[in-house]
Amino acid sequence: MSEHFSSTLHTGSDHSGQVDAVVVGAGFAGLYMLYKLRLLGLRVQVFEANADVGGTWYANRYPGLRCDAESVEYSYSWSEDLQQDWCWSERFATQPEILSYIRHVAERFDLRRHIQFDTRVSSAVFDEARGLWQVRTDQGNAISARYFIMASGCLSSARLPSFEGLETFEGDCYHTVDWPKAGVDFRGKRVGIIGTGSTGVQLIPVAAQQAEHLYVFQRTPAYVVPARNAPLEADYVSRIKNDYVAIRAVARQQGLGLYPRPTESAVEVSPETREQTFERQWSVGGPQFMFTYKDMLTNKEANQYAVDFLHRKIRSIVTRPEVADELCSHDYPVGAKRICVGTDYYETYNRDNVSLVNVRKSPIERIVPKGIRTRDGDYALDAIVFATGYDAMTGALLDVDIRGLGGRRLADKWAAGPQNYLGVSVSEFPNFFMITGPGSPSVFSNVVLSIEQHVDWVSDCLQYMQEKGWSRVAVKEQAVLDWVEHVNQVANSTLIPQANSWYVGANIPGKPRVFMPYVGGVGPFRKKCDAEAESGYASFEFSAV
Ligand code: NAP
Repeated sequence: MSEHFSSTLHTGSDHSGQVDAVVVGAGFAGLYMLYKLRLLGLRVQVFEANADVGGTWYANRYPGLRCDAESVEYSYSWSEDLQQDWCWSERFATQPEILSYIRHVAERFDLRRHIQFDTRVSSAVFDEARGLWQVRTDQGNAISARYFIMASGCLSSARLPSFEGLETFEGDCYHTVDWPKAGVDFRGKRVGIIGTGSTGVQLIPVAAQQAEHLYVFQRTPAYVVPARNAPLEADYVSRIKNDYVAIRAVARQQGLGLYPRPTESAVEVSPETREQTFERQWSVGGPQFMFTYKDMLTNKEANQYAVDFLHRKIRSIVTRPEVADELCSHDYPVGAKRICVGTDYYETYNRDNVSLVNVRKSPIERIVPKGIRTRDGDYALDAIVFATGYDAMTGALLDVDIRGLGGRRLADKWAAGPQNYLGVSVSEFPNFFMITGPGSPSVFSNVVLSIEQHVDWVSDCLQYMQEKGWSRVAVKEQAVLDWVEHVNQVANSTLIPQANSWYVGANIPGKPRVFMPYVGGVGPFRKKCDAEAESGYASFEFSAV
């Protein structure tokens, strides 16, 4: 074991001293990373900006929020006892249930004592001479660490567009990412919701039941499939639990780490078969609608069949034809923005107290004291909700002033896009790791499964270093260049980059348009990561200082 590694467990409470590793974030990624580092005997300090564990599942509390991946899959697989003991109550878990699961994990594995809450890491600077990261926080901590690990989440840095006049609004403003813990009462209020991505789609039907009148400000219509959420039946759960190890093993080799890959092509079946199959998937519900045919994300014609089917569904549900028309999207392939999963989403537009405002046709000009002004008129409101998403994938990473060799800022190095290797390592930034960083399956997969894969890979790499007596690791530049090219090639072989989505950073003015997630599938990605380890980490350079 290297001298830099402590063999004794450390509580990490020495906030102004030195630890082996600083981890940023105490969501799914940070907690598992902490657990694994502790198994290696490392002294770990976790900093978490929120007041408790949970990450994005702590901050997001808007009504209607539930996961759009199935509970039995969107959960840790690394503890057989945990997955046997925990009982999910519904097919798609609510935010409170997911948060109580994460809290349970923190307590069960005694993780809290390594975490300092209400603390935002402000900077991390690599001290070349000492081979240590100097980490500072907004609470005045100054701590050095051999390893600096960002487990800060892909969707955690909220985005509030700069609407002119926002400060003049006399009503209440909310961002879904920072929802009041005490909840919000919309009864008797005129409410405006801006944004119809996954978040807006979940919030809108619930808010409509409360508000006196709800105005939905839609710029781009989402494609929404019904969740068909339901309580989990005991027989189903016990079948899963009896077979959990095998089910997880299969998921690790699947495309998204969730559903079996389909084998049929949408363009090779008869129109009747296609319609029946789409109809069957629609009645099953959930995001696996995108897994009806193998070529839905690679073949325009196949994709268009799915779009046409969804448009027919919208028109059959929404009673006012002019509203149904506005809810049909025509400018991007389905799945190129993440498909949304909703409950009574389209049905909500049949309510008398709901109005759809097309802000593509009539853009929001400014916020005024009494509401929202669009080009075609004013909407009087008591409350505005921003469901406007995130600075995804790179936002939380670049919120921290991270500086590598020669004081180079990560923000400068990534000025043209997040160049890295396997979504985990950046050249010129030794001993720095990202969990589910850009360039990895991350958001384009069951993210909990991808977190586990990345955390296991990082901890295996650190164990390898322990065994060899090395204390510094840095990826080679060529490996980064090759990986970035591969990520782009794979993305460009699909229809996914064709939308102006957060996958390409299009929702953030000035952000370089670069496709960020790896869409080659979790199975192939895992193989590449494993091959790297088996090669003795040939793409990395190690040293003892
Ligand atoms: P999002 O997908 O980025 O959607 C943001 C919405 O705000 C879009 O409709 C966008 O319109 C609109 N918008 C942004 N700026 C605007 C402006 N200036 N004027 C008018 N409209 C504006 O964000 P999100 O809905 O929070 O979802 C982000 C991701 O989080 C999802 O894709 C999903 O991966 C994850 N998520 C998951 C769950 C779940 O598991 N159930 C729930 C929520 C979120 P444009 O499309 O025109 O830009």
